[in-house]
Amino acid sequence: MTRPDRRIVGQADSTAQPEGPPEITGGFIASEPPAVRQPGRLSTVEFVGTFPDPMVTLDPPLPEVAFVGRSNVGKSSLINALLRRPGMARVSATPGKTRALNVFRLPRFYLVDLPGYGYAKADKTTRAAIEKILDRYILERNSVAGVVWLLDIRRDPSVDDERIAQHFSKRGHPVLAVLTKADKLTHSGQLARTRAIARSLGLEHDQVQLTSSETGLGIAELADSVMELVRVKSEEERKP
Ligand code: GDP
Repeated sequence: MTRPDRRIVGQADSTAQPEGPPEITGGFIASEPPAVRQPGRLSTVEFVGTFPDPMVTLDPPLPEVAFVGRSNVGKSSLINALLRRPGMARVSATPGKTRALNVFRLPRFYLVDLPGYGYAKADKTTRAAIEKILDRYILERNSVAGVVWLLDIRRDPSVDDERIAQHFSKRGHPVLAVLTKADKLTHSGQLARTRAIARSLGLEHDQVQLTSSETGLGIAELADSVMELVRVKSEEERKP
Protein backbone atom coordinates (compact mmCIF):
# COMPACT_ATOMS: atom_id res chain seq x y z
CA MET A 1 0.00 0.00 0.00
CA THR A 2 1.02 3.61 -0.32
CA ARG A 3 2.14 4.63 3.13
CA PRO A 4 0.40 7.58 4.70
CA ASP A 5 3.14 10.15 4.96
CA ARG A 6 5.05 11.14 8.06
CA ARG A 7 2.56 13.80 8.83
CA ILE A 8 0.78 11.04 10.68
CA VAL A 9 1.47 12.19 14.17
CA GLY A 10 1.60 10.04 17.21
CA GLN A 11 1.10 10.61 20.85
CA ALA A 12 2.63 9.49 24.07
CA ASP A 13 2.46 5.72 24.47
CA SER A 14 -0.95 5.12 25.94
CA THR A 15 -0.61 1.38 26.24
CA ALA A 16 -0.41 1.99 29.99
CA GLN A 17 -3.80 1.46 31.60
CA PRO A 18 -5.68 4.67 32.49
CA GLU A 19 -5.32 6.04 35.98
CA GLY A 20 -8.91 7.03 36.63
CA PRO A 21 -10.89 9.54 34.59
CA PRO A 22 -8.94 12.31 32.87
CA GLU A 23 -9.33 15.81 34.23
CA ILE A 24 -11.74 17.13 31.69
CA THR A 25 -14.47 19.30 33.05
CA GLY A 26 -16.90 19.26 30.19
CA GLY A 27 -16.20 18.76 26.52
CA PHE A 28 -12.72 18.13 25.27
CA ILE A 29 -11.93 21.76 24.77
CA ALA A 30 -11.17 21.59 28.49
CA SER A 31 -7.97 19.67 27.80
CA GLU A 32 -6.43 22.71 26.14
CA PRO A 33 -3.48 24.10 28.06
CA PRO A 34 -4.69 26.50 30.79
CA ALA A 35 -3.27 29.53 28.94
CA VAL A 36 -5.72 29.19 26.07
CA ARG A 37 -8.77 28.03 27.97
CA GLN A 38 -11.76 30.27 27.85
CA PRO A 39 -13.44 30.27 31.23
CA GLY A 40 -17.13 29.60 31.02
CA ARG A 41 -16.98 28.17 27.53
CA LEU A 42 -15.48 24.82 28.32
CA SER A 43 -18.63 22.84 27.90
CA THR A 44 -19.74 24.50 24.68
CA VAL A 45 -20.48 21.99 21.97
CA GLU A 46 -23.26 22.42 19.50
CA PHE A 47 -24.60 20.08 16.85
CA VAL A 48 -24.50 22.19 13.69
CA GLY A 49 -26.23 19.74 11.36
CA THR A 50 -26.10 16.94 8.84
CA PHE A 51 -24.85 17.86 5.37
CA PRO A 52 -24.81 15.64 2.29
CA ASP A 53 -22.57 18.16 0.46
CA PRO A 54 -18.90 17.68 1.44
CA MET A 55 -18.14 21.22 0.28
CA VAL A 56 -20.81 22.82 2.49
CA THR A 57 -19.95 26.31 3.72
CA LEU A 58 -19.76 26.46 7.49
CA ASP A 59 -20.28 29.81 9.14
CA PRO A 60 -18.20 31.13 10.82
CA PRO A 61 -15.21 29.60 9.07
CA LEU A 62 -13.10 27.62 11.58
CA PRO A 63 -10.52 24.85 11.28
CA GLU A 64 -12.04 21.40 10.92
CA VAL A 65 -10.93 18.09 12.39
CA ALA A 66 -12.42 15.17 10.50
CA PHE A 67 -13.09 11.76 12.02
CA VAL A 68 -13.00 8.95 9.51
CA GLY A 69 -12.94 5.17 9.61
CA ARG A 70 -14.53 1.99 8.48
CA SER A 71 -18.16 1.51 9.40
CA ASN A 72 -18.57 0.05 12.90
CA VAL A 73 -15.00 0.99 13.90
CA GLY A 74 -16.37 2.81 16.95
CA LYS A 75 -16.33 6.36 15.56
CA SER A 76 -19.59 7.56 17.11
CA SER A 77 -18.65 6.08 20.46
CA LEU A 78 -15.25 7.77 20.35
CA ILE A 79 -16.74 11.16 19.44
CA ASN A 80 -19.23 10.83 22.29
CA ALA A 81 -16.39 9.97 24.67
CA LEU A 82 -14.33 12.96 23.50
CA LEU A 83 -17.24 15.36 23.72
CA ARG A 84 -18.41 13.77 26.96
CA ARG A 85 -21.91 13.72 25.53
CA PRO A 86 -23.20 10.16 25.43
CA GLY A 87 -25.89 10.78 22.81
CA MET A 88 -24.22 13.46 20.71
CA ALA A 89 -23.03 11.26 17.83
CA ARG A 90 -25.54 8.51 17.26
CA VAL A 91 -24.22 4.98 17.75
CA SER A 92 -25.82 3.60 14.63
CA ALA A 93 -28.27 0.73 14.53
CA THR A 94 -27.95 0.61 10.73
CA PRO A 95 -24.26 0.77 9.89
CA GLY A 96 -23.03 1.90 6.49
CA LYS A 97 -26.13 3.92 5.62
CA THR A 98 -25.08 7.44 6.57
CA ARG A 99 -24.26 9.45 3.45
CA ALA A 100 -23.61 12.80 5.05
CA LEU A 101 -21.30 14.79 7.27
CA ASN A 102 -22.35 15.37 10.85
CA VAL A 103 -20.86 18.60 12.09
CA PHE A 104 -20.30 19.69 15.69
CA ARG A 105 -19.07 23.12 16.65
CA LEU A 106 -16.66 23.68 19.52
CA PRO A 107 -15.31 27.10 20.47
CA ARG A 108 -12.26 26.89 18.20
CA PHE A 109 -13.08 24.34 15.56
CA TYR A 110 -15.60 22.09 13.87
CA LEU A 111 -15.51 18.38 14.55
CA VAL A 112 -16.66 16.68 11.38
CA ASP A 113 -17.97 13.13 11.60
CA LEU A 114 -17.49 11.69 8.10
CA PRO A 115 -19.56 8.73 6.88
CA GLY A 116 -18.12 5.32 7.75
CA TYR A 117 -16.74 3.46 4.74
CA GLY A 118 -16.40 -0.19 3.76
CA TYR A 119 -19.61 -1.65 5.16
CA ALA A 120 -19.73 -5.06 3.51
CA LYS A 121 -23.51 -5.25 3.30
CA ALA A 122 -24.04 -1.78 1.82
CA ASP A 123 -25.23 -1.78 -1.79
CA LYS A 124 -23.01 -0.51 -4.59
CA THR A 125 -24.78 2.84 -4.93
CA THR A 126 -24.47 3.59 -1.24
CA ARG A 127 -20.80 2.63 -1.18
CA ALA A 128 -20.09 4.79 -4.22
CA ALA A 129 -21.96 7.75 -2.73
CA ILE A 130 -20.01 7.47 0.52
CA GLU A 131 -16.67 7.20 -1.31
CA LYS A 132 -17.50 10.30 -3.33
CA ILE A 133 -18.24 12.32 -0.19
CA LEU A 134 -15.05 11.16 1.52
CA ASP A 135 -12.87 11.73 -1.54
CA ARG A 136 -14.12 15.25 -2.11
CA TYR A 137 -13.91 16.18 1.55
CA ILE A 138 -10.37 14.88 1.98
CA LEU A 139 -8.97 16.00 -1.35
CA GLU A 140 -10.71 19.32 -1.86
CA ARG A 141 -11.57 20.95 1.42
CA ASN A 142 -9.12 23.62 2.53
CA SER A 143 -10.28 24.15 6.10
CA VAL A 144 -9.12 20.70 7.30
CA ALA A 145 -6.71 20.97 10.23
CA GLY A 146 -6.23 17.23 10.37
CA VAL A 147 -7.82 13.84 10.15
CA VAL A 148 -8.43 11.39 12.98
CA TRP A 149 -8.24 8.01 11.27
CA LEU A 150 -9.80 5.18 13.24
CA LEU A 151 -8.79 1.54 12.96
CA ASP A 152 -10.18 -1.35 14.99
CA ILE A 153 -7.32 -2.75 17.07
CA ARG A 154 -8.38 -6.32 16.29
CA ARG A 155 -8.36 -6.00 12.52
CA ASP A 156 -5.63 -5.49 9.97
CA PRO A 157 -6.12 -2.41 7.77
CA SER A 158 -8.54 -3.30 4.96
CA VAL A 159 -8.44 -2.47 1.25
CA ASP A 160 -10.82 0.41 2.02
CA ASP A 161 -8.48 1.65 4.75
CA GLU A 162 -5.60 1.59 2.28
CA ARG A 163 -7.65 3.48 -0.28
CA ILE A 164 -8.42 6.29 2.12
CA ALA A 165 -4.80 6.38 3.36
CA GLN A 166 -3.68 7.05 -0.21
CA HIS A 167 -5.88 10.13 -0.21
CA PHE A 168 -4.33 11.36 3.03
CA SER A 169 -0.90 11.04 1.43
CA LYS A 170 -2.01 12.78 -1.72
CA ARG A 171 -3.45 15.74 0.11
CA GLY A 172 -0.86 15.82 2.91
CA HIS A 173 -3.24 16.44 5.79
CA PRO A 174 -1.83 15.67 9.22
CA VAL A 175 -3.34 12.35 10.32
CA LEU A 176 -3.77 10.92 13.79
CA ALA A 177 -3.86 7.14 13.52
CA VAL A 178 -6.10 5.90 16.33
CA LEU A 179 -6.79 2.32 17.35
CA THR A 180 -10.27 1.74 18.80
CA LYS A 181 -11.79 -0.84 21.17
CA ALA A 182 -8.52 -1.51 23.02
CA ASP A 183 -10.54 -2.90 25.95
CA LYS A 184 -11.35 -5.96 23.84
CA LEU A 185 -7.75 -7.14 24.28
CA THR A 186 -5.47 -7.83 27.20
CA HIS A 187 -2.64 -5.43 27.89
CA SER A 188 -0.12 -7.66 26.11
CA GLY A 189 -2.58 -8.15 23.23
CA GLN A 190 -2.87 -4.37 22.93
CA LEU A 191 0.90 -4.01 22.70
CA ALA A 192 1.23 -6.76 20.11
CA ARG A 193 -1.57 -5.40 17.91
CA THR A 194 -0.33 -1.81 18.21
CA ARG A 195 3.10 -2.90 16.98
CA ALA A 196 1.65 -5.04 14.18
CA ILE A 197 -0.69 -2.35 12.86
CA ALA A 198 1.99 0.35 13.16
CA ARG A 199 4.36 -1.88 11.19
CA SER A 200 1.79 -2.47 8.46
CA LEU A 201 1.23 1.30 8.18
CA GLY A 202 4.95 2.06 8.15
CA LEU A 203 4.78 3.91 11.47
CA GLU A 204 6.56 3.66 14.79
CA HIS A 205 4.31 2.12 17.44
CA ASP A 206 4.27 5.37 19.39
CA GLN A 207 2.77 7.12 16.35
CA VAL A 208 -0.44 5.19 16.88
CA GLN A 209 -2.86 6.24 19.61
CA LEU A 210 -4.54 3.48 21.55
CA THR A 211 -8.09 4.22 22.72
CA SER A 212 -11.17 2.71 24.31
CA SER A 213 -14.47 4.53 24.51
CA GLU A 214 -15.54 1.98 27.11
CA THR A 215 -12.72 2.57 29.60
CA GLY A 216 -11.55 6.05 28.57
CA LEU A 217 -8.09 4.80 27.65
CA GLY A 218 -6.28 7.34 25.46
CA ILE A 219 -9.21 9.75 25.23
CA ALA A 220 -7.53 12.66 27.02
CA GLU A 221 -4.35 12.16 24.95
CA LEU A 222 -6.40 12.17 21.77
CA ALA A 223 -8.17 15.35 22.87
CA ASP A 224 -4.76 16.99 23.34
CA SER A 225 -3.63 15.86 19.89
CA VAL A 226 -6.79 17.23 18.30
CA MET A 227 -6.30 20.59 20.00
CA GLU A 228 -2.72 20.64 18.74
CA LEU A 229 -3.94 20.13 15.16
CA VAL A 230 -6.33 23.04 15.62
CA ARG A 231 -3.60 25.24 17.11
CA VAL A 232 -1.21 24.56 14.22
CA LYS A 233 -3.89 25.20 11.58
CA SER A 234 -5.03 28.41 13.28
CA GLU A 235 -1.43 29.64 13.36
CA GLU A 236 -0.96 28.78 9.70
CA GLU A 237 -4.03 30.79 8.84
CA ARG A 238 -2.86 33.82 10.80
CA LYS A 239 0.33 33.99 8.74
CA PRO A 240 0.15 36.70 6.07
P1 GDP B 1 -19.37 3.58 14.13
O1 GDP B 1 -20.22 2.82 13.17
O2 GDP B 1 -17.94 3.64 13.68
O3 GDP B 1 -19.90 4.93 14.52
O4 GDP B 1 -19.28 2.69 15.46
P2 GDP B 1 -20.14 2.78 16.79
O5 GDP B 1 -19.62 3.84 17.71
O6 GDP B 1 -21.60 2.82 16.40
O7 GDP B 1 -19.77 1.38 17.46
C1 GDP B 1 -19.96 0.15 16.81
C2 GDP B 1 -20.08 -0.94 17.87
O8 GDP B 1 -18.85 -1.06 18.58
C3 GDP B 1 -21.15 -0.63 18.92
O9 GDP B 1 -21.76 -1.86 19.28
C4 GDP B 1 -20.35 -0.07 20.08
O10 GDP B 1 -20.98 -0.29 21.33
C5 GDP B 1 -19.05 -0.85 19.97
N1 GDP B 1 -17.91 -0.07 20.49
C6 GDP B 1 -17.54 1.15 20.10
N2 GDP B 1 -16.44 1.56 20.76
C7 GDP B 1 -16.11 0.57 21.61
C8 GDP B 1 -15.06 0.40 22.58
O11 GDP B 1 -14.20 1.24 22.81
N3 GDP B 1 -15.05 -0.79 23.25
C9 GDP B 1 -15.96 -1.77 23.02
N4 GDP B 1 -15.86 -2.90 23.73
N5 GDP B 1 -16.97 -1.63 22.14
C10 GDP B 1 -17.05 -0.48 21.44
